[in-house]
Amino acid sequence: MTTAITAVRTSVFRFPTPTPEADGTLAWDATTAVAVEVEAGDGTGLGWTYSSPAAAAVVDDELAEVLRGRDARDVPGVWRAMHRAGRNLGTRGLFAQALSAVDIALWDLKARLLEVPLTDLFGRLRDRVPVYGSGGFTTFDDAQLTAQVEGWQAAGCPAMKIKIGESWGSRTERDLERVSRLRELAGDDAELMVDANGGYSPGQARRVGGVLDELGVVWFEEPVSSDDVRALELLRGVLRCDIAAGEYVSDERDAARLLPAVDCLQLDATRCGGYTGWLRCAALGAAAGLQVSGHCAPALHAPVAAAAPRLRHVEWFADHARLEPLLADGVPPVVGGAMVPNRGPGHGMVLAAGSQRWRIR
Ligand SMILES: [Mg+2]
Repeated sequence: MTTAITAVRTSVFRFPTPTPEADGTLAWDATTAVAVEVEAGDGTGLGWTYSSPAAAAVVDDELAEVLRGRDARDVPGVWRAMHRAGRNLGTRGLFAQALSAVDIALWDLKARLLEVPLTDLFGRLRDRVPVYGSGGFTTFDDAQLTAQVEGWQAAGCPAMKIKIGESWGSRTERDLERVSRLRELAGDDAELMVDANGGYSPGQARRVGGVLDELGVVWFEEPVSSDDVRALELLRGVLRCDIAAGEYVSDERDAARLLPAVDCLQLDATRCGGYTGWLRCAALGAAAGLQVSGHCAPALHAPVAAAAPRLRHVEWFADHARLEPLLADGVPPVVGGAMVPNRGPGHGMVLAAGSQRWRIR
């Protein structure tokens, strides 16, 4: 079998949102996906990250040369070579996102060369990966939120999450009204989750969290900035709801810092070093007795989440749920609140022919 890497290709896609969207601390009108394809022998692996087009430049200018000629079966070895090549640029943030897209493509490629499902290569622990509905943007009116909740219910999601912390925590009354409205729409049995994206001060988060506890909310994500680990830890000590964070984790050291401060460690394979990094960070979380939840990119998380012992769920984020089938063929659908990972070689996804319509470079 020929397994030397012969080609690395990037492409960048921009998918406009149907209407303007915002969370507590950021607004956007499109989502950019940076895709990487890696070739070896007669196989092609696909990965992507949700990042800036600059991530494609990092792959093209810094990583492609590191990959060429290396054995595609030696994914951790290639990962280490890429990570070492990033020393002077800084190995976190944008660089980690670029590395993540490559790592995902490498794992997909290896599984295809071996002609096994990627989940089996990782070690399948479950056949179905539970998801939760995620969206509830602060820009939504009541009709938009209602329609979204109905969509999550139709897909069988028992848990759902909306954004709060509107305008950097300056609209707490509206935040709490929207959570109450979510309870009305979702019903008493639904698990309600909220994400403030770091929009509150510690004191504000404590006061809002007290009301969330009364409303039966089970998950309070990034009540304060994830950089304020001490405040997260204090909130975890006084609130009933679970504290969750981790979407900006780039490596195991980032993950380790959050361990005392969260009940559930969120990990994003498109940011934390690909599947290689995700599994390493998930193991750290497990060692601390924590659950792990896949952040965004649901289709990419399906194969690795199926192998994680302490998986809680994967985030079925509205923007990504909408665009992933436009970007790739083979995206696993959500049925009965879960995804069933691909049973053919690799993760089973290839760039969709129609994706060219959204390509910007
Ligand atoms: Mg979040």
